Amino acid sequence: MELQDQVAIVTGGSRGIGRAIALELARAGARVVVNYRSRSEAADAVVAEITEAGGQARAVAADVSTTEGADALVAAAEEWGPVDILVNNAGITADGLVLMMSDEQWQSVLDVNAGGCFRMCRAVMRGMVRRRKGSIINLTSISGIRGNAGQANYSASKAAIIGMTRSMAREVAKRKVRINAVAPGFIRTDMTNALPDAVIDGATKMIPMRRMGEPEEIAPIVRFLAGPGAAYVTGQLFVVDGGMSC
Ligand code: NAP
Repeated sequence: MELQDQVAIVTGGSRGIGRAIALELARAGARVVVNYRSRSEAADAVVAEITEAGGQARAVAADVSTTEGADALVAAAEEWGPVDILVNNAGITADGLVLMMSDEQWQSVLDVNAGGCFRMCRAVMRGMVRRRKGSIINLTSISGIRGNAGQANYSASKAAIIGMTRSMAREVAKRKVRINAVAPGFIRTDMTNALPDAVIDGATKMIPMRRMGEPEEIAPIVRFLAGPGAAYVTGQLFVVDGGMSC
């Protein structure tokens, strides 16, 4: 297995896309730290699924939008050894038209999505640079590429992730640390289940494949980017959206 015994952190690994990524990295042999913010039972279920299949995983609660949370999460992972793989997946929405959007709606989404990604990258970077080894995969969104009405805060946070991915990749490429981004389209998770049926129907009509994606259809590209097959790939953005943005 290509990721045998490598230490991987998946932020927001307890549900949805993060859960599928945690399971996929564990199948590749990685020791997976399943991060969550508040719902411990969901994280415990992912850990149980991995360990029952013969893999290694542990759940760690931490709010990645704070420096203390990000640093504590990395310190907890390092009890297993240096961090080889970081997947910045934790994300939230707080949708609303810009004329109605509160400062809190704006700031909370920027703090978790963009701030969390930055703080986690910073927390693992020194160790990765020193060891000349590491792969970071940041989850962005097609909303960060083409925008989406009602998501000015979310789109801004996801565009920020694309920019920081490219900048950080340039900073550390010569130290053999790779950083890439994955932009899912419309994926079936709790995040999208919260949307009204009319919104889901309308969005599905705009997808050439005429269906939403599944979390398990995002996880394989993250596994590829984490592993040796992507050794010469950095600073790139991979869109997985059923053709929505083509
Ligand atoms: P989800 O089902 O809502 O799950 C979100 C996960 O993030 C949960 O594990 C949650 O933990 C965790 N989380 C939230 N805030 C956190 C914080 N401050 N610190 C640590 N963990 C936190 O989300 P999803 O739909 O799988 O989305 C995963 C990622 O893909 C997000 O970055 C999202 O923006 C992106 N994405 C999703 C779609 C889509 O269609 N679903 C499309 C494009 C991009 P708790 O449950 O404990 O709060």
